[in-house]
Amino acid sequence: MTDERRAQLAAALDAVRRRIARACADAGRRPDDVTLVAVTKNYPAADVQALAELGVTDVGENKDQEAAAKWSAVTAPLRWHYVGRLQRNKAGSVVRYADVVQSVDSVRLAGALDRAAGRHRTTPLDVLVQVSLDGDAQRGGAVIDGADPERDLWRVAEAVAASETLRLRGVMAVAPMNADPDRAFAILHDVASRLNGHHPGADAISAGMSGDLEQAVAHGATHVRIGTSLLGMRKTLR
Ligand SMILES: *Cc1c(COP(=O)(O)O)cnc(C)c1O
Repeated sequence: MTDERRAQLAAALDAVRRRIARACADAGRRPDDVTLVAVTKNYPAADVQALAELGVTDVGENKDQEAAAKWSAVTAPLRWHYVGRLQRNKAGSVVRYADVVQSVDSVRLAGALDRAAGRHRTTPLDVLVQVSLDGDAQRGGAVIDGADPERDLWRVAEAVAASETLRLRGVMAVAPMNADPDRAFAILHDVASRLNGHHPGADAISAGMSGDLEQAVAHGATHVRIGTSLLGMRKTLR
């Protein structure tokens, strides 16, 4: 870790924190109601460690192998969020290091995580159900009132809630490409409220990335997942 990189990360973190604070002020919300999840995919463990030393408490990863290796290398206490597509055969690995899995989008995946967590964990695993905001299940996410029971948002949520070792904490979504994030996050907020009505512990809304965190905060996001604005463009730096 060079001094230059450390200074770069510190300046970027400061700028992101200011964006979050301003978005909260505009929405009449308190800045500490929004948790910053630094999405560190494609960046080395040294960057994760440096962000932790700068006060970051939560990090996100989207590939199992990369995440497991970084988790082993980083000594700072952090909450690790798994935010990527997850195959059922990776469940046994992810439950060993993840504190939160944000990308549960099928009944079968919930079942696989529940069984794996039962084997490998002593504490419950926090889960967010990923919501498809364009209704295209191919792109990931459970479908709101979906025809396929395996991928229907409400059934996925029920499967998590009924499990032994998973804790249903809320929803996650990525705004669809080429669509208005405001509209997408308004739909997500509505879905989150309905879910929370049935499940009092499920009050998290993970929404907003580098390009749309302001819109997400305006629509009630409790977690924003920021990669590029903190760490730089993923391709050029690596
Ligand atoms: C990469 C990624 C992010 C971060 O996106 P940026 O635009 O780089 O801030 C957030 N959420 C998920 C699910 C991601 O895969």
